[in-house]
Amino acid sequence: MDGRRVVIVGGGMVGGALAMDLGCRGIPTRVLESTPPIRPTGDEPPRLRVAALNRRSIDYLQTLGAWQNMAAERLADFDQLSTWDIAGGGRLGFSAQDIGLERLGVFIENEHLQAALVETAQQHACVQIDAPAAELHIESGSSGVALSLAGEGRLDPALVVAADGAQSRVRDAAGMTVRAGDYHQHAVVATVTPSPPAGQHTWQRFTPEGPQALLPLANGAASLVWYVSPDKAKSLLALSDEAFISAIEAAFPSDLGAITRLHGRGGFPIRWLHAKRYWRDNVALVGDSAHVIHPLAGQGVNLGLRDAQALAKGIAKAYAQGLPLNHGRMLADYERARRLDNQRMQWIMSAFHTGFTAPLGPLAVARGWGLAVAQHGGWVKRRVLRYALDGR
Ligand SMILES: Cc1cc2nc3c(=O)[nH]c(=O)nc-3n(C[C@H](O)[C@H](O)[C@H](O)COP(=O)(O)OP(=O)(O)OC[C@H]3O[C@@H](n4cnc5c(N)ncnc54)[C@H](O)[C@@H]3O)c2cc1C
Repeated sequence: MDGRRVVIVGGGMVGGALAMDLGCRGIPTRVLESTPPIRPTGDEPPRLRVAALNRRSIDYLQTLGAWQNMAAERLADFDQLSTWDIAGGGRLGFSAQDIGLERLGVFIENEHLQAALVETAQQHACVQIDAPAAELHIESGSSGVALSLAGEGRLDPALVVAADGAQSRVRDAAGMTVRAGDYHQHAVVATVTPSPPAGQHTWQRFTPEGPQALLPLANGAASLVWYVSPDKAKSLLALSDEAFISAIEAAFPSDLGAITRLHGRGGFPIRWLHAKRYWRDNVALVGDSAHVIHPLAGQGVNLGLRDAQALAKGIAKAYAQGLPLNHGRMLADYERARRLDNQRMQWIMSAFHTGFTAPLGPLAVARGWGLAVAQHGGWVKRRVLRYALDGR
């Protein structure tokens, strides 16, 4: 059995979607997840980690049958999006209504989606989910990566998929190197209930320090993201709740209103990473193990879901033709299908970061002017909208 089986290390949003996709295609799959997601329930406050899913990702999750397993009352549609620069130049705004759509996208809690995927995937008889998995040993072997589980011994899958995130141990054991860098910024994330309650409008203001964003969540709550220097992040996170709320209210635009409750907060270093190759021997990379981009436009999971979809298609083709599931041509096709898309998004995010984090001055005037042009120029606006909806 193992000789025709895929083992996915990491059952996060991307590994979970891949398992689901392979399950739908009847391909024997095993997921090893060290930290099982805990599904948020009822009216418990929002979890800290959230993500914006674009239309393309939602369509994919619907096709897989996982979206139907999400609790509607914890999903937050957004139908308006706007961005502006603290230096002026007007606001660039979009609404779903303008283009005859019901919504531009949906904000979800990461653990909610992860749990829905894992639960739905295990309804397929060909999918086995180990969550929590027994202790996993990952070593470099003569023909790729060798996995063994405590109490079970060596696994011998046809293909190992690294869906174990940015610090991927599978990728490192496979000897797959990366290009990586640091934006010298941290995202301070806070889940709050503002007054007035957050509606369906997401916004982002650029400042020389970094962007400040509001992502609306279910039940009027919101996730606030504040990009600051690592030192400032440290001092903000060390403040008392009251002082932290005051610091946010003082720094954020008045669009936020007042914060009536703080549910949680945390800090995330912002880095970029791109693997020099997406496959080697018996290993393929998906999601953050292959690429990490600046989260300012919320595209990381959306890209990872596209990796999952492309890899599942390739594996299914090899499976149907009786080819090995680590077939070189199939994996090379997968890399070709995904690398440029991921690379392009990484470049765009880096350009945004550089352009919008420059000090106030001539560049600020130019970018304010750029936003004004974009607001009134049909083509630029349509491009940005397509990017928000489809991530391309
Ligand atoms: C502040 C911030 C905001 C973001 N906002 C957005 C957004 O709005 N939209 C968006 O699309 N993206 C967003 N992202 C990016 C997004 O969070 C990532 O792209 C996404 O989580 C990647 O998913 P993944 O499944 O590839 O990896 P991960 O989410 O890192 O999941 C990896 C999984 O592997 C498991 N694992 C790790 N090692 C092992 C092991 N040895 N054995 C077994 N299991 C293991 C982990 O427990 C985890 O469950 C944001 C990122 C940040 C930092």
